Amino acid sequence: MTKTDDCVCSIIDIAPTISELIDVPLPGADGVVIPEMIDCLQRCDRLILIIVDSLGYLTYQRLGSAMPHVSGNGTVIRCRAVADHTTPAIASILTGCSPETHCILTDDDVCTSPIKSILERVEECGRRSAVVIANGGAKAMRTKIKLVAGGGDDSDIIAYDAVIAKHSVDLLRHEPALTVIHLRAIDRYAHEGRSFDELMYAAERIDGHIKEICSHIGRGTGVIICGDHPIHGAYAWKGRDVALIAL
Ligand SMILES: [Zn+2]
Repeated sequence: MTKTDDCVCSIIDIAPTISELIDVPLPGADGVVIPEMIDCLQRCDRLILIIVDSLGYLTYQRLGSAMPHVSGNGTVIRCRAVADHTTPAIASILTGCSPETHCILTDDDVCTSPIKSILERVEECGRRSAVVIANGGAKAMRTKIKLVAGGGDDSDIIAYDAVIAKHSVDLLRHEPALTVIHLRAIDRYAHEGRSFDELMYAAERIDGHIKEICSHIGRGTGVIICGDHPIHGAYAWKGRDVALIAL
């Protein structure tokens, strides 16, 4: 694993970086291209973006040993969060805009927002994009793009993430230029005040899903993993930044 400890980028820079890598225009973004990510992924003509909910930068430092596939193959960059909650944070990741610009706080706001995400921009270019997220977000995104799957019942978050991973593998058969996947077990366990060992277990399961997803892609597909916001709860290793990882 290589890493850059200097905080040089923000999560609003992720979409502009994807735009550059897969050659899809993203006008109006607040963020800028991240050169380190371009260096890592410039060979790729397709991308998978895996949003690991609550994967803060310091959280990843603590849980990374439970994620051997990611930590053994990835380059991690420290990345500034722009929101404390999932919906506005993911909106910033996918639009390249700050919350003040996109004003998306709820799933309903996704439907009414005039700001287009990188997923919609991909379809405007005549290519396919796909998203696998929670049911509320999936319902909203079905108004925007064609390849959408929801995670279903999330009462057992470990089983829920496994369903998300399965749907992701199914949608990858359509060979999307961009696939966005949202995995939630670490975040849910943090909200529930679970033990460190249980957080490690959630991270281990997520690493397994990422490894499985990676086994279904070719060399021309790059993988970007990012947190959406720092972990919730009173953890000493909470911090203000998230992990951004190129595989
Ligand atoms: Zn979140």
